[in-house]
Amino acid sequence: MQDYAGKVALVTGASRGIGAATARAFADRGTNVVLAARNMGSLLELVDEINAAAAGAPKGARGQARAISCDVGDYTQVETAVAATLDRFGRLDFLINNAGTIDPMGSIAASEPADWARALKINLLGPYHGIRAALPVLQAQGNGGAIINISSGAAHNPMEGWAAYCTGKAGAAMLTRAAAQEVDGSAIRIIGLRPGTVETRMQQQIRASGIDNRVSRMTPADHFPPEAPAELICWLCSMAAADLHGQEVDIRMPEIQARAGLRQAS
Ligand code: NDP
Repeated sequence: MQDYAGKVALVTGASRGIGAATARAFADRGTNVVLAARNMGSLLELVDEINAAAAGAPKGARGQARAISCDVGDYTQVETAVAATLDRFGRLDFLINNAGTIDPMGSIAASEPADWARALKINLLGPYHGIRAALPVLQAQGNGGAIINISSGAAHNPMEGWAAYCTGKAGAAMLTRAAAQEVDGSAIRIIGLRPGTVETRMQQQIRASGIDNRVSRMTPADHFPPEAPAELICWLCSMAAADLHGQEVDIRMPEIQARAGLRQAS
């Protein structure tokens, strides 16, 4: 656990789904976590759960948590989240750019430009805002760290009714590569993750949308539980995954599952 104990992770979109599972997985490993999202009620419930578990464990065995209200589409709020992380825990080691939205779903011809702008702010500018705010901190600390951008198969293949999502995720996938290039030769790792399809509120929204595509026709049993990508995200932050810097990996890759010792993969 030397990769995790006493380290500090900032997880965006931590109020539910993959982000919440990732926060729990880090805390299980002794990593302190800052949970960022807009729904403070859900964040505070998770903070209480994580801190209660830490209080009942030997000192340092489990990570502690704090919550911060943050809309990743607003750079000032992301900068504040990074500052709050340093204020509470004194350092930052891992940034998980996980917050995302599937909205707006529907055709480009019938879309609202303001809805597209909002989606791109969250799915594309969100990860940029995170990297912009966190990277100088990692560089100043001088001892590495990892940034994981949560990507999607939709970054690489158009899906019916998801043009805004596919476009934002495609841009974010290039951001992973471009940002990685800027830190080549340092100990900082920047890696993209396609988490497979995961049974979260996003999949509930997809099923309820009326959009007919390959993913909306899937059932809850077809998807990974959020704990599977959460475990993989933690592993990607470890030095064991350092060779994946600049790449985007898919949870469905058998060699990745084997290397990460994934227990939750279906
Ligand atoms: P959920 O809808 O369950 O959770 C999304 C999270 O993002 C919530 O915590 C939400 O919190 C947060 N969020 C949304 N908008 C913002 C914002 N503007 N600022 C801050 N936080 C925000 O989705 P998942 O857990 O499924 O998705 C997590 C990531 O995984 C996303 O990037 C998604 O694109 C990606 N992904 C998911 C797949 C799946 O099958 N589920 C497949 C491939 C990729 P709040 O509303 O409180 O702000």
